[in-house]
Amino acid sequence: MTQRATVVGAGIAGLTSAIALAESGYEAVVLDRAAGPSDAPLGLAITGNGLEALAAIGLRGEVERAGVTTRMGSILTDAGTTLMAKTQTGAGYIVGIREGTLLRILAERADDLGVETRRETLVRSDADLPETDLVVGADGLRSTVRRWIKPRVQPDYSGAACWFGISDALESTPEFVTSWVGRGTEAGILPLDNGAFWYISAIDRQRGPSTAGDDAAAAEAAQLGALFEAPLSAHISATTSGTVTRQPLFYLPTGLPRFTSTRTGMPTLLVGDAAHAMVPSLVQGANQTFEDAAVLRVLLRDEPDTETLFARFNEERVQRAQRMQVRSWRAIRWMQATHPVTGAIRNAVLKLTPTMAAEILTDWHGRWVSPDAPR
Ligand SMILES: Cc1cc2nc3c(=O)[nH]c(=O)nc-3n(C[C@H](O)[C@H](O)[C@H](O)COP(=O)(O)OP(=O)(O)OC[C@H]3O[C@@H](n4cnc5c(N)ncnc54)[C@H](O)[C@@H]3O)c2cc1C
Repeated sequence: MTQRATVVGAGIAGLTSAIALAESGYEAVVLDRAAGPSDAPLGLAITGNGLEALAAIGLRGEVERAGVTTRMGSILTDAGTTLMAKTQTGAGYIVGIREGTLLRILAERADDLGVETRRETLVRSDADLPETDLVVGADGLRSTVRRWIKPRVQPDYSGAACWFGISDALESTPEFVTSWVGRGTEAGILPLDNGAFWYISAIDRQRGPSTAGDDAAAAEAAQLGALFEAPLSAHISATTSGTVTRQPLFYLPTGLPRFTSTRTGMPTLLVGDAAHAMVPSLVQGANQTFEDAAVLRVLLRDEPDTETLFARFNEERVQRAQRMQVRSWRAIRWMQATHPVTGAIRNAVLKLTPTMAAEILTDWHGRWVSPDAPR
């Protein structure tokens, strides 16, 4: 008999998991409270591990074609002094893509595979779910499904906020990912198809709410951008007014011991930010989500019973994703150091580290190995 799966959330995690489920013969339904996909002006860096995982679910080629192939580039101080120069080693391979483009690719593939997506469908309790054999909680940072399993695990504020937008293509658009570090702030530009994603992240004691397309967010971004050398301000000015977004950065501080549960009587699995929300300092949130789906795809093929599947999913995913959460947290503290001495040490370490070594180390740390690969 065909197995049925209900996925809560039609973000990156929900759609990639639904694709993995449908490819494994499940009848998958995706429920999302929103009327349509997110239209946040977000650009995503897909790193080597994410690309490997996308390859495992047959999506790498399409994502690469729709995005821009780039690499890790220079790291500079806010005043423009180079701390780490770009190299041409072949390491640090990245694809920059608009979140909207990625969501469209995923939705089309899910649709082709017969996945049914029900919009404007808020899930409050398990009574809102159709009859199902498996529940996948892909409902993001403030996951309702996670609350059923682990009510005490709550997101926490990182102390930093991020201002971001997508600018038009400019002459100053770098060919490589370029980042700047300042006192309590960091910023970057990611080249995209016909434009660039820019962001400024800063320690933010106001702890204000998210604002999208608000004049205040644009004014704050312009003010922060002026702390950095010229290209950043040019990109902020070349961003369509009314789209600059301010987002406080939250993460899950307490690691979940498992991403699965049978406690509610329904086999339930958490993926994406619902399972392992992290600050975006190492650009791993979506990349970890691709790994979730790729692991699910392999295990659905290899492990017919739920108990073994869940045990292996936890084995493959919990430690790996939580390591990324911790590293991302450390990276934001380090890159946004507020004390002048810590900032000077950070700059000296970045300057003394050979770029090639840093790139190779980053690739090695991020490397993902499929559960069916020989180890
Ligand atoms: C500024 C910034 C830059 C980033 N850059 C990168 C990057 O370069 N690379 C990278 O890998 N990651 C990056 N990330 C992280 C990445 O964006 C997230 O990790 C990823 O989008 C999470 O996807 P998700 O599907 O788990 O969650 P979400 O995108 O939050 O999707 C959850 C979905 O669930 C729905 N939902 C929620 N609750 C319910 C409910 N009760 N009932 C029904 N539906 C519900 C929501 O409507 C939503 O559609 C960045 C994040 C930020 C903020």
